Amino acid sequence: MCGIVAYKGQKNCYPILINGLKKLEYRGYDSAGVACITEQGKITVTKRSGKVKQLEDVLKKHGMNKKCIGGIAHTRWATHGRPNQINAHPHIDESATIVLVHNGIIENYDPIKKFLKSKKVKFKSETDTEVLVQLIGYFYKKGKLNFEQSVRAALQRVDGAYAIVVLNKDEPDSMIAARKGSPLALGINEKEFFVGSDISPIISHTQQIIYLEDSQMAVIKNDNYEIKSIDKDISLPKIVEKIDYKIDDYDKGKFKFFMHKEIHEQVDTISNSIIGRTTEHNVILNGLLEYWSQIEASDKIFITACGTSWHAGLIGKNLIERFAKVPVHVEYASEFRYNRTLVDNKSVVIAISQSGETADTLAAIKKANDYGAITIGICNVAGSSISRETDCGVFTRCGHEIGVASTKAFTAQISILYLFALKLASSRKQISKSAMTAHLDFSSSLRKVRSVLRKENEIKKIALKYKNASDFLYLGRGLNFPVALEGALKLKEISYIHAEGYPAAEMKHGPIALVDKNMPNVFIVPKDMTYEKIISNIEEIRSRKGKIIIITDSKEKILKDLAHDLIIIPKTNHYMFCVLATIVLQLFAYYIAVGKKLNVDQPRNLAKSVTVE
Ligand code: GLU
Repeated sequence: MCGIVAYKGQKNCYPILINGLKKLEYRGYDSAGVACITEQGKITVTKRSGKVKQLEDVLKKHGMNKKCIGGIAHTRWATHGRPNQINAHPHIDESATIVLVHNGIIENYDPIKKFLKSKKVKFKSETDTEVLVQLIGYFYKKGKLNFEQSVRAALQRVDGAYAIVVLNKDEPDSMIAARKGSPLALGINEKEFFVGSDISPIISHTQQIIYLEDSQMAVIKNDNYEIKSIDKDISLPKIVEKIDYKIDDYDKGKFKFFMHKEIHEQVDTISNSIIGRTTEHNVILNGLLEYWSQIEASDKIFITACGTSWHAGLIGKNLIERFAKVPVHVEYASEFRYNRTLVDNKSVVIAISQSGETADTLAAIKKANDYGAITIGICNVAGSSISRETDCGVFTRCGHEIGVASTKAFTAQISILYLFALKLASSRKQISKSAMTAHLDFSSSLRKVRSVLRKENEIKKIALKYKNASDFLYLGRGLNFPVALEGALKLKEISYIHAEGYPAAEMKHGPIALVDKNMPNVFIVPKDMTYEKIISNIEEIRSRKGKIIIITDSKEKILKDLAHDLIIIPKTNHYMFCVLATIVLQLFAYYIAVGKKLNVDQPRNLAKSVTVE
């Protein structure tokens, strides 16, 4: 969740680290810190609660030009201990010799802390991270183990997930990075080394990347480095990849928030996820080619994901079952990883994650791999852990998503699942050639994204009317039930208003008790086979005086009569209706949050890429 960036080389560390932190800040932003080491072993630690900007301001005041030969930096998403300056990383051991940044959770921090306290070690922070640095310091100070051995000994005793980078005052020319569970990449540029929790702070300096595998450490000394095992003192092969990947614009352009920009980018990102992947009556998903015969033959599909991606998974289930007629089970990755599962070597497991680093989803994939299933990744980041751990996959190709509330990644995920469902239907002979041709003609449907975005002002006006509501219900049926869930999630994430998504008819079994004259109810109403049924559901809410907001592709008068506010989107197919309704709901949530003067891109308590369990 947090961001780590580290540098070892002859250039001034500070600008590299601060710029790196800015690229990572979307991952966690409650506090930030940096520690740099000089050739003589003087370590300077600077940390601040709040944003990277606050840290940068302090550093600017104190000067960033110290002659340092290495530095580590961190932007935190607190798990253990409040988000304040003391708990911010880097953490240093009590003898001020070992300094460390950490992403993840040390699950057995409590017994280790008790042990260290019994040895009179004094703690300053409330974090699990400090326990790890003190443990390394404890081994090191005992004098029997060198720096590398002390790090290894400590890591062998901790449970949980971590990515760490460590410096040692006695060996200013050394840096150790290690990972288990949380991602970490090493960038190499002749005599310079960069470490990042993803490649965004590295890639502008070098394209030579080693993705550390679980239980590996990179031991850098002077101008050399080795990849070693955490479990044993053995060297491992260096697998350097040339990553030809540009981190695109961190620029908001004319938009005030990245989320707003990303909502608008959907005009292109939805087509990017489709273009080149279709012919007149066929879908081409090259990333699945090698495993396609097994995928096609499978009669059990599981989809696993978290948050917004899980909602995409529910839409995927509907589409796959509808077109390909294969049963699909959708499960939160955090549940999948521990539940008794029916996955076997004939199953296909599709894992969806924007970042490709979501810890629970990664664990679910590992479990599926252990059971011998074919694993498919749908993610947005090339080189991410999920793209490497799955057998095959499809990239969503929607560019870097920075706003914490996912928008363009979601609609791209739906597009990929739509293509996947059609391809599977076609391979399994469940769909006619003419139906395929009709589905694959995106020419007019993609233009409709633009026409929905043109309704922005209308949506804004409606959103602002409801900005002071305290609870919302979002109701939809079939394919649009997950759209309702996603609409409610967007609102919760960025406006902090309580919202729940429900299948429209299910609302009678409980949530209707909440309805009164203050409660807005957002109905998603395509003119499909459930249209009449949903109108009855609207009547039920209306007769209890609830406020009705309708998103529909129907121009029928009855909806005008029932709705307090009506948003009409263009007529299109089922899949595209979901996409268009989602865009309306994204804008709706966005303008409520803006109306409440909230930081849309960095909502409280959230982080972009959830790399802890
Ligand atoms: N568990 C650590 C802490 O709370 C690291 C959190 C993070 O990944 O930012 O300080």
